[in-house]
Amino acid sequence: MSILSLQGISKRYGAIQALSGVSFDVPPGSVFGVLGPNGSGKTTLLGIVTDVLKADKGSFQLFGKTATAAERRKIGTLLETPNFYHYLSAWKNLEISASIKQRGKDDIERVLRICGLYDRRDNAFKTYSLGMKQRLAIAAALLGDPDVLILDEPTNGLDPAGIAEVRALIHDMAKAGKTIILASHLLDEVEKVCTHVAILQKGNLLLSGPVNEVIQRTDFVELAAGNN
Ligand code: ATP
Repeated sequence: MSILSLQGISKRYGAIQALSGVSFDVPPGSVFGVLGPNGSGKTTLLGIVTDVLKADKGSFQLFGKTATAAERRKIGTLLETPNFYHYLSAWKNLEISASIKQRGKDDIERVLRICGLYDRRDNAFKTYSLGMKQRLAIAAALLGDPDVLILDEPTNGLDPAGIAEVRALIHDMAKAGKTIILASHLLDEVEKVCTHVAILQKGNLLLSGPVNEVIQRTDFVELAAGNN
C-alpha cells in the first residue's frame, strides 16, 4: 500500500496552470523528493496533500484511504518556517507548539532528542545556529509522532553546516521508519538524500520512480535540466 497516491491532480491560479494531471505513488519508508525548478508546482502539490489548498481536478489517498482527520494526524508538516519566539528557550517554544497539538513533556523530550537538541533545550532560540533552528522546526513537526513527514525545501537558506545537519537528520528519521516527502529544487540534494523522486516541470510530471533507476535513464540529464 502506498503512503500517498495521487491521481491526475490539477490546479490553476487564474491564468496560471500550476499543476496538470499529476499522478504518482509514495512507497512506505521512502524518502521521496519532489524535484523541480522554482514555479514548477512543488509547493502547490504539497499544499493540496496537506489540505491547505484544494485541487481543481484529481484525487489522492493517504494510507490507501480518502484523507480524513485520522489520516491527517499521522502526517507532520513543515511547509513554512514556524514563528518561534527569539528570547524563549527551545523547550519553551516547543511547549507552545505542544499545547496547540495537545502533546506533553514526554513528547517534547522525545522530539528534542531525535533532533539532537536536548542538551541545548534551555538555550534561547536566538542563540541557535541556522541548522539548529531548522532542526527545531522539524522537532515541532514531529510532536504528534507522525508516520510521515512533509518538508518544503528543508535546506533552503541554510549554511553548509546546517544543510549537512538537516540532511543527516532526514537520514536518521528515515532509518527510524518514517516516510519523508520533501520538495527540492536541487538535483544534487535529491541524489544524496532521497530514495525516490518525482520530477516536475511547469506543473507536469516528467517522471517518477526510485532514484537509482531514474538516474540510469539515458534522457535523465535532459529531463532534470533546470533542476541543478
Ligand atoms: P517555488 O520553489 O518558487 O515555491 P514551486 O515549484 O513550489 O516554486 P509553486 O509555488 O507551487 O511552485 O508555484 C507554481 C506556479 O503557480 C508558479 O507559476 C507560481 O507563480 C504560481 N502560484 C503559486 N501560488 C500562487 C497564488 N497564490 N496565486 C497565483 N499564482 C500562484
